[in-house]
Formats: sequence, structure tokens, C-alpha cells
Amino acid sequence: PAPQSVSQLFAIDSLLTSEELAIQETVRRFGADKIRPHIAEWFEEGKLPARELAKELGQLGVLGMHLEGYGCAGLNATSYGLACLELEAVDSGIRSLVSVQGSLAMFAIHNWGSEDQKNEWLPKMAAGEAIGCFGLTEPDFGSNPGGMRTNAKKDGSDWVLNGTKMWITNGSIADVAIVWARTDDGVRGFVVPTDTPGFSAPEIKAKLSLRASVTSELVLENVRLPESAELPKAKGLRGPLSCLNEARFGIIFGALGAARDCLETAISYAQDRDVFDKPLAAYQLTQAKLADMALELGKGQLLAIHLSRLKEKGEVASEQVSTGKLNNVREAIAIARECRTILGANGITLEYPVIRHANNLESVLTYEGTSEVHQLVIGQALTGQAAFR
Ligand code: FAD
Repeated sequence: PAPQSVSQLFAIDSLLTSEELAIQETVRRFGADKIRPHIAEWFEEGKLPARELAKELGQLGVLGMHLEGYGCAGLNATSYGLACLELEAVDSGIRSLVSVQGSLAMFAIHNWGSEDQKNEWLPKMAAGEAIGCFGLTEPDFGSNPGGMRTNAKKDGSDWVLNGTKMWITNGSIADVAIVWARTDDGVRGFVVPTDTPGFSAPEIKAKLSLRASVTSELVLENVRLPESAELPKAKGLRGPLSCLNEARFGIIFGALGAARDCLETAISYAQDRDVFDKPLAAYQLTQAKLADMALELGKGQLLAIHLSRLKEKGEVASEQVSTGKLNNVREAIAIARECRTILGANGITLEYPVIRHANNLESVLTYEGTSEVHQLVIGQALTGQAAFR
């Protein structure tokens, strides 16, 4: 019999509409044509042509694709998830660019912003003509953003922001930063044009993960903004946490893309590589590895689609999103590492995508809530006891 893919083994396509399958195929082709030929070089050099890429992704229609109006495509959660999966099958850095743009920066404006803020920013962000970033994490406050020190104080009707944000995706290339800051009245969000005096965003170098993604510090020194820069509807940590929930949702699908790419690479490698006079794929030990990885990849896809269908009905709870993020990223990184063993020494080079995906997934395991934080969320759901502190 002809070899099957994991999707075929699990009959995943039977759960998707023809429109969803068409979107998936379009994004897959874009990734194969426009990104895959260059990605190893971008990763090795730690450089991403983000401006040009953002415009192409805008033309493809994936920036803020799950949002309604303001130039956004208004597609369903499953379509958005499948787009994330196909982008991350090429590289987690590309999916990160799209997640931060659509689910963090654009979603923050769409959900919590004023009509003026939406009209000003969303159409050009959907087109990829303006890039956004999302500044929540600080050098001393990652898992516990409630401790943030960045502050916003009123001076007449203006706001004046001071503080430092850390590990901010797209920071140095952004036209607009959504910055979360402490005020006398709790945490608030601000729409900060990055050419505002006092704003700077030095890039963080020497990363060994997500090298095809820009990561930066944000420094705010007396950044003066008009009253209208405040996101009027976001009050307290619920504002940023709602955005994170959106981005986590994309990762539930996205991480499986990286895993799928690793598994496909390993299967093809094992069929071509002869060891002790026959193909590596014909050994039981190899097949046991492949079978176990296929099970986790397939189960991960079923979970992702189950959650996206709940989301489409407006019924997905944040602890369910945590379940998907924790499981699918943890399994994806395990698959990437196992595939690496099948490639032997070739597995450690950029000639093949496997170690690149494995290294990228280290960041994915940490950002958007670490594995441990998601374990605590699930632990709280199971016991009713909060164990965060
Ligand atoms: P810490 O919070 O210091 O955690 C260190 C360790 O302690 C982890 O293992 C953690 O799970 C564990 N831990 C923490 N609290 C507990 C607890 N209560 N019980 C048990 N263990 C605990 N942030 C943004 O705001 N915007 C971005 O665009 C963004 N992009 C990123 C891009 C990259 C490449 C990376 C690596 C990070 C990015 N982040 C971004 C930051 C990311 O969200 C944080 O790194 C993450 O929240 C963890 O925070 P931390 O690194 O400070 O780790």
C-alpha cells in the first residue's frame, strides 16, 4: 500500500470544510514558494526581511484574518489555526510574526480600542503596511505580569509612560506598540506609535531559537501621549490576558505544523538512508518511533480542531486553551527531538529543518505562558486551588 500521511491516518480532512481546506492549501503553497527556499539562510544569519514579508502576508490575507471589518478577512477560528499550522510548518518565527500582528497587536485594538484607533491602525496592519508589537513582559516580570513596573501617569490630559519591556517580538521593526502599563487605576493598554520621542527598541541578539524573528527590548523614557492613546475598554490584566488567549489558540495549531514538518522529513530521510544494508525506515525501532510520533501529532490535531470548533461557538474556556497549548507544544518539541535522532548527524545541520524547528519550539514552550504556568491553570481547574504563589 502507498504510504499515508498522519492527516490521512486520522482522516483529519473529514473534519474540515472545503473552504478551510482551500485556505490551508493556499497558505501551504505560499510557505513553500516564498519562505521555505530562504528560511535556513534567514535563520543562520539571524535576519528576517520583515517589511517585505509583512506586505506579502498582508496580500495573502492572513494578518488579523480572524477579525471582522477594518480590512480584515473575518474568517473562522479553524481557518486561522490552519494558517498558523502551515506557516509554522516552515518556521515558528514566521508564525510568530503573524500571531503577534493579528492576535496580539491587532486583536488588542479591535477588541479594546476606540473607533478612531481601529480606523487608524487596523486596515494598514491587515495589509502588512504597518507592523505591530505587544509589550507586556518585563525584565523582572514574565509569568507574573501583574508585578509590572512600567507606569503611565497623567500630566494634564496627556499620559507619560516610563519603563522597560523585554522579549518583545517585532519590537524593533514595529510602527506601533501596544504597551501595557500600571496607572493609579490599575493596568491599562496604550497605542504607542514607535516614532514617539522617548521610545526606543534595541534588538536582542545572540538568540539560538527563533532566529528568523525579531525580538527586542522596549525602552520608554518619558513617552508623552495624548489621552486618546489609551485603549478605552481594557481595564486591568483582563485586557492583555484576553489577547494572549487569542495568540495561544494559534499556537495550538501552529506547533503541530513544526512537528509535521519534522516527521515528514524524518520519514523521507529514513526511507532514503540505508543502514546495515537496508532502509532505516524498514527497522522496527524506527517504525515504533514513527508510529508513536504519528499518534501524538494526530491526537494533537484532533484536540486543536475540537478547540477551534468550541471557539467558533464562543464556548472555549481559557483553561481549555491552556490544555491545547501545553499538550501540543510539549508533544511538538518531543517529536522534533525524536526526529532529530532519526537523521543522525544530518539532524544537527540547517540542511534539514528539524533542529531549527526543535530550537524554535524552545521559545514556543516558554512564550504565551510557560508549560508550568499552563500546568498551574489546569491544576486550578481540576482542584479549585490556585497554586501560582
Ligand atoms: P519567568 O516568569 O521568570 O519563569 C522562569 C521559570 O519559572 C519558568 O520555567 C516558569 O514556568 C517558572 N515559573 C514561573 N512562575 C512559576 C510558578 N508560579 N510556579 C512554578 N514555576 C513558575 N512577551 C511579550 O510581552 N510580548 C512578546 O511579543 C513576546 N515575545 C517573545 C518572544 C520570544 C522569542 C521569547 C523567548 C519570549 C517572548 N515574550 C514576549 C516573553 C514571554 O512571554 C516570557 O518569556 C514568558 O512569559 C516567561 O517569562 P520569563 O521569561 O520572565 O520567565
